[in-house]
Amino acid sequence: GFIDRERPQAVISDCLPLVRHMLKKHEIELVREDDTESVVLANRTELQQILINLIVNAIHAMPGGGRLTIAARDAESEGKPGVAVSVSDTGTGIPPDIVERIFDPFFTTKRSEGTGLGLSITQMLVQRNHGTIAVETAANEGTTFTIWLPQAPRD
Ligand code: ADP
Ligand code: MG
Repeated sequence: GFIDRERPQAVISDCLPLVRHMLKKHEIELVREDDTESVVLANRTELQQILINLIVNAIHAMPGGGRLTIAARDAESEGKPGVAVSVSDTGTGIPPDIVERIFDPFFTTKRSEGTGLGLSITQMLVQRNHGTIAVETAANEGTTFTIWLPQAPRD
């Protein structure tokens, strides 16, 4: 899709109305962290789709409630180029024996309402936008998915 200059926080804000009722229903607290003035180069619709997939997975991982943190920051501090946007939950975590399969098409651990396509599509969309994606997870502590996107040149 068409790549444009986007403010990460604006794209995050666009996603929230779509998940607000799910957050309320599952008693999940939303925390937003904004530590960047940067603008990213990305397709807005695709970035929304990426974030919604990650947010819905995070919500599914917290059936008994929890905290969803969506953060944007410059990746410079961690020695990476671009802007990092992360979606963190305080949910179940991903068992070590399956974590390497989560990006495979049709891989799901959900008994119903899981197609297993979310993360494979997410990864494809991240790559189309010249970004990278990674996951950090710990059993019963939670999971963080981070995407790194190219920073738009300042004008
Ligand atoms: P689906 O959501 O349809 O199962 P996905 O590709 O989105 O498919 O995710 C694949 C699997 O990765 C999920 O079934 C789940 O086991 C695991 N997973 C993804 N995100 C999380 C998360 N935030 N916490 C725990 N497990 C997760
Ligand atoms: Mg999913």
